[in-house]
Amino acid sequence: MFEPEIERMKTDQIKKLQEERFIRQVRHAYENVPMYKKRFRDKGITPDDIRTLDDAYKIPLTVKDDLRDHYPYGILAVPLRDVVEMHASSGTTGIPTVVTYTERDMRTWRRLMARTYAAAGVTSEDIVQNAYGYGLFTGGLGFHYGIQELGAMGVPTATGNTKRQLRMMKDMKTTVLAATPSYALFLGEAAKAEGYDPLNDFNLRIGMFGAEPWSEEARKKIQDTFGLRAHDVYGMSELYGPGVAVECEHQNGLHIWADEFLVEVIDPDTGEVLEEGKKGELVFTMLTREAMPLLRYRTKDLAVIEWEECECGRYHPRIMRIKGRADDMLIVGGVNVFPSQIEHVLMNIEELAGEFFQIVLEGDILDRLYVKAEVEPKFFKSDKYDAAKLKKKVEDELQAVLTLRARVELLAPGSLPRTEGKAKHVVDLRHKT
Ligand code: ADP
Ligand code: ZN
Repeated sequence: MFEPEIERMKTDQIKKLQEERFIRQVRHAYENVPMYKKRFRDKGITPDDIRTLDDAYKIPLTVKDDLRDHYPYGILAVPLRDVVEMHASSGTTGIPTVVTYTERDMRTWRRLMARTYAAAGVTSEDIVQNAYGYGLFTGGLGFHYGIQELGAMGVPTATGNTKRQLRMMKDMKTTVLAATPSYALFLGEAAKAEGYDPLNDFNLRIGMFGAEPWSEEARKKIQDTFGLRAHDVYGMSELYGPGVAVECEHQNGLHIWADEFLVEVIDPDTGEVLEEGKKGELVFTMLTREAMPLLRYRTKDLAVIEWEECECGRYHPRIMRIKGRADDMLIVGGVNVFPSQIEHVLMNIEELAGEFFQIVLEGDILDRLYVKAEVEPKFFKSDKYDAAKLKKKVEDELQAVLTLRARVELLAPGSLPRTEGKAKHVVDLRHKT
């Protein structure tokens, strides 16, 4: 453990620390962020009404649009001269989401990242290749700072330049790969195409994969390809970046660093707090963030949280895998469809190159659902490949799960664009065609 005195805390110790910090943090936000002062007033409450963790529900929820509405510095709780770094998330909708850090916030983030690596089994002896994108995205620098804090060796390849990436992986004898799961899958494919034998030519033992949802099938594929143990890492730029939660070596849920994050699970429709063990939307409060003290921040991520001792000796609560996002669900002709359902079906058909697929929605009046899927390279070349038969099989299996018929288009291996960051599996062209 990187910080055993914190990581080994028992549940009641954690909750006590959370409560102290929470009360202080609410006051910090109220006194220094006009948006919060106004919201508290509108609700007729003051920080004096927040005396225990159970009072949290009284505080209004914060959403991503609040950050956009106060772009760029409106949620800053310290003078701008105390800010030492900023990041921004891509934002497909136009205005980027800007986040800010003080010196102390940066130290907190570095420690959380070092803990995150250590929980996955990474040590100062490791050689960590960081293939997350460097820059405004928190992934690259977050994983970078953690390597330094831990005292491991960094190989800051960033995303892309795949040939050089693979060469570094071999020549530097990289032991840990940090990347989005889609890029890790892509690297596995590219390594084989470049003539590497990933199991023997590389020295990888641990993978730190996150920033997007990925399936158990994808995990298995990455693990089998590289012979490593693949860990899920969760985070988001509003909550420092990566390093909010990670799977320990028991890979049974992702530990949330609860000394820094208060987590609640709410019903995404009513906003009501749900009891432990119920699936809902994760809501986080950062307990010591100085520059940007977000209170009860809605993530849109759906999951179940469990507070129980883990075999690793930690009591920090666990996210039992992210089940998708509240805004992920597609409504196709009145039927609810989750992209993860489609992924699950495709990953289990061995004639397909499971992870390389695209969901396309079209239609002005009637919705049409297309699923484009690449055929597995070896099978594609073999004389067993019968396109019509495989197409029907995929359509039937999708129908069994989705209850609606999608039109499947089979593609030659390598047809779909490869992503270096997060995968984009859904293309919605409805009302645009
Ligand atoms: P954005 O994608 O909005 O630009 P981020 O890069 O900070 O901003 O992404 C945060 C989001 O990425 C999370 O809310 C979550 O939906 C997703 N995410 C991050 N890590 C994981 C993970 N391990 N599993 C599933 N989803 C994840
Ligand atoms: Zn554990």
